[in-house]
Amino acid sequence: MMHTCIYLDNNATTQPDPEVVVTMLPYLTDLYGNPSSMHTFGGQVGKAIQEARESVATLLGAEPTEIIFTSCGTEGNNTAIRAALAAQPERNHIITTQVEHPCVLNVCKQLEKQGYKVTYLSVNHQGQLDLMELEASLTGNTALVSTMYANNETGTIFPIENIGALAKSYGATFHVDAVQAVGKIPFSLKGSTIDLLTLSGHKLHAPKGVGSLYVKKGFRFRPFLLGGHQERGRRAGTENVASIVGLGKAAEIELQEMTKAIQREAKMRDRLEKTLLATIADCEVNGDVKNRLPNTTNIGFKYVEGEAILLSLDKYGICASSGSACTSGSLEPSHILQAMGLPYTILHGSIRFSLSRYTTEREIDKVLEVMPGIIQRLRDLSPFNSEDVTWLQTVNSNQPSVNSKQLPVTSE
Ligand SMILES: *Cc1c(COP(=O)(O)O)cnc(C)c1O
Repeated sequence: MMHTCIYLDNNATTQPDPEVVVTMLPYLTDLYGNPSSMHTFGGQVGKAIQEARESVATLLGAEPTEIIFTSCGTEGNNTAIRAALAAQPERNHIITTQVEHPCVLNVCKQLEKQGYKVTYLSVNHQGQLDLMELEASLTGNTALVSTMYANNETGTIFPIENIGALAKSYGATFHVDAVQAVGKIPFSLKGSTIDLLTLSGHKLHAPKGVGSLYVKKGFRFRPFLLGGHQERGRRAGTENVASIVGLGKAAEIELQEMTKAIQREAKMRDRLEKTLLATIADCEVNGDVKNRLPNTTNIGFKYVEGEAILLSLDKYGICASSGSACTSGSLEPSHILQAMGLPYTILHGSIRFSLSRYTTEREIDKVLEVMPGIIQRLRDLSPFNSEDVTWLQTVNSNQPSVNSKQLPVTSE
């Protein structure tokens, strides 16, 4: 397959593995039966779904009966939060973090309007949580602790089992948005404190529009979508068979390839990062570099606009991301970088490169070749440079204080 671009935006979405696509095709052509049907024609489709369930379960170290197929990570997160609240209706407190995906934050904001109390844990300059703050927030009224495993923008990995142990000691349900972690770091749900875990197909080389929700055995689960008895009554709606089969194949491939792939990606990511830092002045890495996804680097280039960098990279066919969200016609810096309390010029000049197993050394070479010139050109054009301290002070003092409830959320 021809690559039309240098794709370094794999935390936004990934290229479906060609093997995944081939595995899916029969279910879009000959094998179109309804898995709920009594006849053999439908039954064989049901068997394919079951095999996919086993593959996803194996990747996670879970039992097949603990896996529910969903339409996306967003559905998984919405379902998990509602299910946790339904499991303990006498409790009305939720703990989450300021750096979650909008499909967690916006659900929590709506629940606040409905009378739930929500604590949005802060993060430090590295994007890392303070477990003391978590412990101080937990009460016997806490129904749910919901945190991501790894951050989509900085790659920062949270200490999941420590968080879970604290949540469990207060009897709270522990939900983890692992959309960015699955296939990028090895972990197992065997013996884990996690009750509910979300993953999404399109972040691990399966197609868009399919995901899974892990529900720990014994958890009193209440379904979100009601209707037929699909997914053993836990998620109604005729199954997205081809995509589920694709997700199963993607899980199988991850199981085989992940260890090798993450070593390769980390090596390329580190080379990219180190060389950029060495060749370009006034830039720094955002996030917790000691606890980080192997495929992600987020770099703040001072005194330039991230969007201007993206547009320049785009001219070379290089895809990256700035994490900014377009809210009411203006570009708001990423809510994640804002929560990290980064200075104005970093907030506005940060770029995320996220690699995949398809990334090549030559692609990294190309980025390294063009980036110094791009940054130099943009800084030359900018009326503000590193000497212009007054400008910086003015903008910094005009910045609104970071309040999680008003944070515009960046979606991807
Ligand atoms: C992409 C993403 C989601 C949403 O998944 P979709 O399948 O796109 O709905 C949720 N959480 C995180 C951390 C993500 O990166």
